[in-house]
Amino acid sequence: AKLNKCDELVQGDENMADILQMYINGEWTFAESGEIREVLNPATGEIIAVITEGNEADARRAIAAAKHAFYEGGWWDTPASERARLLFEIANKLEARAAEFAALETDDNGKPLREAEFDVADAVACFRYYAGLATKPHGQTYEVADPMQAMVVREPIGVCGQIIPWNYPLLMSAWKLAPALAAGNAVVFKPSEVTPLTAIRLFSIIDEVGVPAGVANLVLGAGPTVGQEIASNHDVDKVAFTGGTATGRTIMKAATGNLKKISLELGGKSPNIVFADADFDTAVDYALFAIFANQGQVCSAGSRLLLEESIHDKFVEALVERAKKIKVGPGHTEGTEMGPLVSKAHMEKVLGYVEIGKEEGATLACGGERLMDGALANGNFVAPTIFTNTTPDMRIVKEEIFGPVLVVQTFKDEADAIKLANDTVYGLAGGVFTNDGAKAQRVIRKLRAGITWINSYHPTYNEAPWGGYKQSGIGRELGTFGFEEYTEVKQININL
Ligand code: NAD
Repeated sequence: AKLNKCDELVQGDENMADILQMYINGEWTFAESGEIREVLNPATGEIIAVITEGNEADARRAIAAAKHAFYEGGWWDTPASERARLLFEIANKLEARAAEFAALETDDNGKPLREAEFDVADAVACFRYYAGLATKPHGQTYEVADPMQAMVVREPIGVCGQIIPWNYPLLMSAWKLAPALAAGNAVVFKPSEVTPLTAIRLFSIIDEVGVPAGVANLVLGAGPTVGQEIASNHDVDKVAFTGGTATGRTIMKAATGNLKKISLELGGKSPNIVFADADFDTAVDYALFAIFANQGQVCSAGSRLLLEESIHDKFVEALVERAKKIKVGPGHTEGTEMGPLVSKAHMEKVLGYVEIGKEEGATLACGGERLMDGALANGNFVAPTIFTNTTPDMRIVKEEIFGPVLVVQTFKDEADAIKLANDTVYGLAGGVFTNDGAKAQRVIRKLRAGITWINSYHPTYNEAPWGGYKQSGIGRELGTFGFEEYTEVKQININL
């Protein structure tokens, strides 16, 4: 919830100390407008923090600071070993405070504490991976006619704007900041206004380890103000965005003014295909994990389950029985398997899709309702939901719901499975379950998606490129691919 300017709060007032600030040019700073925003705990609806609410002017301050740090400040020329040292230090300090960051992530985002702990460990590993990569060779030489010598070097792009969503606030911060800084860029970073808290705390570590002023800037605020300024400002050389496909389109348009480099990690409606010869229990386990991890708020979620006709009834029966037993509750409660959705607005969107599914004539096999008993009364809890008897033209089959809602489809044979799986504007992820190795390979190679698994779902590695085909995005994060996205390539032809 955004609040109006609080007139009684002026710089120096002791109440200002409670308002979390942005980090621009190496300083903690309030928004020039004096506006503030409340941050809510999705499990309880309580206000857990008040943050300063930046706008275009603050984004411009941060962009100017980044530009200065990159050029005059000489950051682009910093030895890779120094950038590596700083990133290793960030990783070490984050690891030392892992429990605190995980708890804060659960407060802010709602996810079960256990999942938040995984996120923090993954974020630490991501900083370490790119700290290591920063100093590894990434140039080439090539054979040319005498007397010339030729080589190719990679250089940082300049000022990189980075905008992330609310589903993995800390992990997405690491995925963005680590490769950009490793490659020598200066960054202007904007977390989601819904879940800014772990990013703010991460910047206190960035400050502590001595990243030079202006190299990494944090701007807090809304997408249409701060985000739009980052995407359109001509002093930003690249914009890297993770979020919804519609927003990605807006950002791409805004980036055309100065032909920014762009990378977009967008939405999905990913198929998880189970053949009759698959190991039944393994496939059931992963089908549940694919959709209900992080309350279904995962871009790569296996949100369409494609079952071979012969196993449909038995599989759905097992799935529904297990889904009904999933423990939904506050993320901090021991044993919670699924937490609340991130916000009231998002919960309403997800419940709206449940109504759409019913109207479209799909069968609601389980869930579909808000859970409000006892401790859940003021939170955004939705029961694990499964729809069967769907058809490919239904909106619940085509559109990304981004919540704990699984739609089940059936297929006759391999060709039918591939056709249904690819019948989507998205192309982010997909899974195949079968004990026939050759079939697994055939099907996975025909999936039009960037991230795929055979007899598994969801494991993600810092070493491997992450990103989508079709309307799921442009470019890749993670791995050497993710590093290269933050570099320009220069050929140097030498007559010596
Ligand atoms: P969103 O697109 O609404 O917002 C994402 C970010 O963009 C936020 O920081 C928001 O403030 C900002 N934003 C909004 N409007 C903007 C504008 N006009 N200009 C610039 N910035 C703007 O997405 P969300 O609701 O926060 O997250 C859910 C979406 O993110 C889902 O579609 C999901 O699939 C996607 N996602 C994708 C990946 C991936 O790697 N492909 C990962 C996580 C989430």
